[in-house]
Amino acid sequence: MHVHSMKSKKVHLHQQFQYQRKVVLHLYSTLIRHQSKMTLTTSLRSCRLMRHYRKKRRRYVKKIVCRISRNTYHRHQSSYIIPSIVNAWQTEQTSLVERLKGMEGGIHLTGDGRCDSPGHSAKYGGYTVIEQRINKVLDTQLVQSNEVTSSNACDLEGLKRCLTLLTETHELDVASMVTDRHKSIEKYLREETPHNPHTAELKHHFDAWHIAKGLGKKIDALSKKKGCEDVGLWKKSIIHHMYYVAGTVPEGQADLLGEKWKSVANHVQDIHEHDTEIYPMCDQDLSQLSC
Ligand SMILES: [Zn+2]
Repeated sequence: MHVHSMKSKKVHLHQQFQYQRKVVLHLYSTLIRHQSKMTLTTSLRSCRLMRHYRKKRRRYVKKIVCRISRNTYHRHQSSYIIPSIVNAWQTEQTSLVERLKGMEGGIHLTGDGRCDSPGHSAKYGGYTVIEQRINKVLDTQLVQSNEVTSSNACDLEGLKRCLTLLTETHELDVASMVTDRHKSIEKYLREETPHNPHTAELKHHFDAWHIAKGLGKKIDALSKKKGCEDVGLWKKSIIHHMYYVAGTVPEGQADLLGEKWKSVANHVQDIHEHDTEIYPMCDQDLSQLSC
């Protein structure tokens, strides 16, 4: 059993290597063709060429495959290709930071994590933040799950690294941050960010999409129970109501938010007047939507 799994792992690694080798070799072949026009460090341009020569790829790979050894492949990858990708990204990131420094107020971030597999068995977790006003990716961090206690903690570690880079290295002030509802992230933003002058004013918001997704799953589960099938018919309207509440209640009015949300229980029974002073009856536009 053990020998067998070792063997299949070896085969898998070999296949992976062959694949990477093919991709890199193709880059070389296009670069060699255009040596007079460009240097090895212009990786972005070579990517464009890669698309251009897609049709001829197979022939190029065949031609070059016998000329480049494994060592050369690794040497070129670490000496030219990876540094030029990193360099291109850092140049882009620096210009985005400069642009944001010229804008008034702190930056408004939205962040989310991504894993390479569903469930909690991922080896790597990536965390990406987008600046909402310019709608560009500002930073992305890769965390290996054994660097932290569990693959679940990858998101928090990635977020911390993004914030550290943006506030300490680039000295940007963060005005707001939108995330999903991970408990650890909520706790970190509540307890740790006030100590950092660049994030002292940070306001944390939850992403409505993540809440709607969770809500939809709960409704699905409920509608599978006997006698509750009709709940499923309301799924779309209930989620719509959730977005509506999030979008129409002014910031800081948590009581109104709660009552308006809870009114959905009356609303589905065709009752549009509620036993609360804060929200005595359904809004006109809401009743038009789904009454
Ligand atoms: Zn109503």
